[in-house]
Amino acid sequence: MDNRSRTAEQLVIEKHTERLRRGFHLWPGLKQGRPPALGDYRWTADLILSTWLQAETGMPPTNGLEHRVGNSGGGFDRLDFKFFPQDRWLPDTVTIDLSIPLNRRPYDRRIEIPVPFYGAGMSFGSISEPVMRARAQAAQVWKTFTCTGEGGYPESLLAYKDHVITQIATGMFGVREETIQYAPIVEFKYAQGAKPGLGGHLLGDKVTATVATMRESLPWVSLFSPFPFHSVYSVEDHKKHVDWVKTINPEALVSVKVSTPTDIDMVAVGSYYDGAHIVHIDGSYGGTGAAPEIAKKTIAMPIEFALPKVHRCLLQEGIRGEVVLMASGGIRTADDIAKAIALGADGAVLGTTELVALGCTRCGNCERGRGCPFGLCTTDPELSQLVETDWAAERLGKLYQSFQLQLSDILRRLGLSSIRDLVGRTDLLLYRSQEETR
Ligand code: SF4
Repeated sequence: MDNRSRTAEQLVIEKHTERLRRGFHLWPGLKQGRPPALGDYRWTADLILSTWLQAETGMPPTNGLEHRVGNSGGGFDRLDFKFFPQDRWLPDTVTIDLSIPLNRRPYDRRIEIPVPFYGAGMSFGSISEPVMRARAQAAQVWKTFTCTGEGGYPESLLAYKDHVITQIATGMFGVREETIQYAPIVEFKYAQGAKPGLGGHLLGDKVTATVATMRESLPWVSLFSPFPFHSVYSVEDHKKHVDWVKTINPEALVSVKVSTPTDIDMVAVGSYYDGAHIVHIDGSYGGTGAAPEIAKKTIAMPIEFALPKVHRCLLQEGIRGEVVLMASGGIRTADDIAKAIALGADGAVLGTTELVALGCTRCGNCERGRGCPFGLCTTDPELSQLVETDWAAERLGKLYQSFQLQLSDILRRLGLSSIRDLVGRTDLLLYRSQEETR
């Protein structure tokens, strides 16, 4: 075929494909003949498409679309499981237990979730209110949790309050006593893995009158959450925070969200002795398009390194049995969840994955102008209408269903009947070379 018989579109695709083939010769989309117009190394075109598919069907793809790993060349993308030979898989008649506890201390409130994941903190301001409601609705149906993030607690979430974690972060935006009283779990966000040491920012364009009212600030003025909490410079200061929450809501479980500095193991131990029920460590790959790339790539420790370090340290201290260790920061797939657990976590926290399920293309425009063109990371009243709450909640539910199926399948192939038996089983993981993962 010469140039005259090709369409203009074909020529553009071929031109970009050839240019990208030279730079990204391992791109899976290319191997399958698609132009790499979507995604990046971690969130490849295949992963985005397969997440959309799972959100529609409730099943993993059956057409060969890659849905387990990305193409980052390291970490979760190089790890795999040492599955047993088929004759040692657990039969379908054995029930697989995916539930995890969210408190393992002996005297406090028992909360269990039937799947080993819940939704990450994404604030009103960073995401739209219909997306927040959809996440809460899906969490209620699946008896798990979602988290408000640091932008306050919209009244529309009250209908789901038994499944909503409220967050207290360094800016203290929208933190009120009654929202702490609503919450079964209160999360202190000390740092975010995507941008540790940088705090948070919400640019003025997204601070609409509604967002400003929720955050008790002024419309169209940029808001910054400092780093760190200026009231916490030691473990003892953190204890005052926990005591403050416990005074307002004695029933609440306390989660401590931290990024992954090199002494993350000591941070986890200190958090436990100060009364935290959940230690939530957030690795470096997470964050929406609002997190600066330079920070995501170079500051925090990848979650794959941090998890075994914290797990081992808690074991050595003799307190692993009383801590719930949750992992976030780049958990994209059911395989990532299972690998995080095998590395030492009890469960995983999902953020970007949920946005992708709702149509996010990873374009990185979350923080520009009116925000997301698909109505996800926006506060613009018109753009927000692009997401219909019931539709979005159903998609999230379908994604959870697909993850549930895949996690059960992984456990069956490993001969385990409970996800709790996978915790810290690094002996069930293997590291594949670059050649093997091609
Ligand atoms: S599609 Fe929306 S949520 Fe996703 S990266 Fe782009 S702007 Fe952000």
